[in-house]
Amino acid sequence: MTNLTKYLHQQMDKEAGIQHTHHRTKIVATVGPACDTYEKLLDLVRAGVNVFRLNFSHGSHEDKAQIIEHIRNINSTEPYNIAILGDLQGPKLRVGEIENNYLPLAIGDILTFTNTKCIGNLEKIYVSYPNLADDVKVGNIIMIDDGKIEVKVVDITKEKDVKVQVTLGGVLSSKKGINLPDTKISLPALTEKDLIDLEFIIEQKLDWVALSFVRSVKDIVILRNKLDEKKSKTKIIAKIEKPEALVNIRDIILESDAIMIARGDLGVELPVEQVPLIQRELIRKCIHRAKPVIVATQMMESMIDRTKPNRSEITDVANAVLEGADAVMLSGETAAGNHPTLVVETMCKIIRQVEQTEYRYNREEDLKPLSHSPSFLSDAVCYNACKISKDLNANALVGMTQSGYTAFMLSSYRPESPVYIFTKERSLVNQLSLSWGVRAFFYNEEESLDNIVTDQINILKQRGFLQTGDVVVNTGSTPIHLHLPTNVIKVTKVD
Ligand code: PGA
Ligand code: MN
Repeated sequence: MTNLTKYLHQQMDKEAGIQHTHHRTKIVATVGPACDTYEKLLDLVRAGVNVFRLNFSHGSHEDKAQIIEHIRNINSTEPYNIAILGDLQGPKLRVGEIENNYLPLAIGDILTFTNTKCIGNLEKIYVSYPNLADDVKVGNIIMIDDGKIEVKVVDITKEKDVKVQVTLGGVLSSKKGINLPDTKISLPALTEKDLIDLEFIIEQKLDWVALSFVRSVKDIVILRNKLDEKKSKTKIIAKIEKPEALVNIRDIILESDAIMIARGDLGVELPVEQVPLIQRELIRKCIHRAKPVIVATQMMESMIDRTKPNRSEITDVANAVLEGADAVMLSGETAAGNHPTLVVETMCKIIRQVEQTEYRYNREEDLKPLSHSPSFLSDAVCYNACKISKDLNANALVGMTQSGYTAFMLSSYRPESPVYIFTKERSLVNQLSLSWGVRAFFYNEEESLDNIVTDQINILKQRGFLQTGDVVVNTGSTPIHLHLPTNVIKVTKVD
């Protein structure tokens, strides 16, 4: 049989069981007016959502508090550990209000950007950025509304107005975003609005916080310090959507807890044809460093209105899975679309279809533990635990962690055996929902490793994840009370 016919036969065999298998690549869904009630959120969770994203560019804290309450209620009454991600707007620039919300711009038109508030028209347009005139140079390109309109700086006046000429025309409406791909913006990583939103995120103990328009590792350090000051356990996602971030990508990945490939703004700030290869490279780098990586934006865009995705969108989701992403993200599709649940169901089907086949992502052989890494010994134990689980075709690969590290490490090998993580760190139980293939449980017994292994296997058996005769690979550390990095592998046949 050829690979393809074998594959088609496999598909027919598996078709019946497809609803019962779990998707290993996680789904992040943005919450908005289309899905913000308890019932609708629960529908999305049942359809396959693992992480809800709250976009702080829109809506009030009051609305968000209500949504957070709904998600927490779902977690406490249903068998889910859904994570919540707060996405900070960051230094995003926008134009102000536009007269009648409609301003047609033609090639050659000369406009004036000003920092004095006004209703925008062909004379003057307000831009929410006091340093615009200092930062831009004549000849710089300014993109408006995701690059639908393009202008070029032709003059900077003494009054600090910026005169631009339209090079790509279109209709401008209020509050549209602005990107300056060839300008170094001097805005801080966290704007005043971000600081207020961050306080809310910390107070509400959200699981993850995403920082938009990260430029350097310093941006992450600033956010990390703010979280540490408040003893917050919220973990950091760096959104990669600026060319500067790509230059500093190694350090940004090391300092962040996870990465989002924010293809929307990335495709405006960079030539859009570069995005696919950047995506591929970023996923590879994140997997190598055991940092979760999310592929975001326009994955199922056409389903905002329609009930079926475009063929290209299906392939886009499938490719992100094949490249090994931890998670794929939905934005307007769930926040403001007509079919939020159907979108998640469709996305989930695409993910499962790919994951069931021999074409699923396999970590390359050269992505081995790094011998110069301070965690090399425990990395090697995790690496070999994954190898053993493959050789034994194990029914479970079990890890224990307090920092999350072992969970991220085991997950990064994208093992075929289901990964179960036990932790006494409550915050991790939900946070790990972002991580590829991981299912986490709260567990705080610390008597002896023998007892712990038996206990964990029993818990998995009770929950229906294991049965008699199954093979389990456990990782752990001993002596147990020292909480050392993972240093033990144990193989058990379940009785
Ligand atoms: P946004 O980020 O939706 O907050 O802009 C994602 C992106 O730019 O792709
Ligand atoms: Mn963005």
